[in-house]
Amino acid sequence: MVTVGIIGGTGFDSPDILKNITRKKVHTPFGAPSDLVTLGTCGTVQVAIIPRHGAAHSIYPTLVNFRANIWALKEFGVTHILAITAVGSLREEIAPGDLVFPDQFIDRTTQRKSTFYEGQEVCHIPMADPFCEKLRSLLGKLSKQLSLKHHQQGTIITIEGPRFSTRAESRMFRLWGADIINMSTVPEVVLAREAGICYATIAMSTDYDCWHESEAPVTWEMIARTMKQNAEHVKKLLFAALPEITYDSCPCREAVKSSVL
Ligand SMILES: [Zn+2]
Repeated sequence: MVTVGIIGGTGFDSPDILKNITRKKVHTPFGAPSDLVTLGTCGTVQVAIIPRHGAAHSIYPTLVNFRANIWALKEFGVTHILAITAVGSLREEIAPGDLVFPDQFIDRTTQRKSTFYEGQEVCHIPMADPFCEKLRSLLGKLSKQLSLKHHQQGTIITIEGPRFSTRAESRMFRLWGADIINMSTVPEVVLAREAGICYATIAMSTDYDCWHESEAPVTWEMIARTMKQNAEHVKKLLFAALPEITYDSCPCREAVKSSVL
């Protein structure tokens, strides 16, 4: 049985893709998630949505309770997560408005709880391929069919924020091999793997980060404008993807079983 969790990001919190909506308050051993969990159906698929930054976009990235969000989705039986996030582009060829389905991350966060296991047990979860290959290839296939401009792979770097990068940092991240940048993928993707949930990111490029000398500095207004245009593309993609997600075996769900000491 498939239940898909959608973690809404900046510019995409809207539950209007669902029918038969109920909203549930959840408490987890790690505290409260970012908001009520919205449950509903999209066609025949059960869906649970959490807006990562809260309903009013009031929780900044460092203070998002990533553990509570993933735990809450797990409690509602979520088997697959599609995580939506706004990103800056570190590559000329990833233009504002493009979608990216990253296959790797670089972690530059410093202040976040990144494991469920901090008591008696220790979990060394393998992270060589952090994103679900099956979900990623499905997203790529459907984007092609829908003629959405997209990039089938990429390395996402997650910084602590809430400030944006300096030019020196932005140039350094490019040298490291990062293609897009945000403040929210890590530790969300790691916790999903610990919870045995398949996880893929739909990254919406909103701007060229400040490495791009010809561009004016990144402003919140610029990002918000592109986000609005992107949200329609993501909605289309979600409508196409949800009925195609099937519960067959996947390494994502098995990794944790052999990782806890
Ligand atoms: Zn998977």
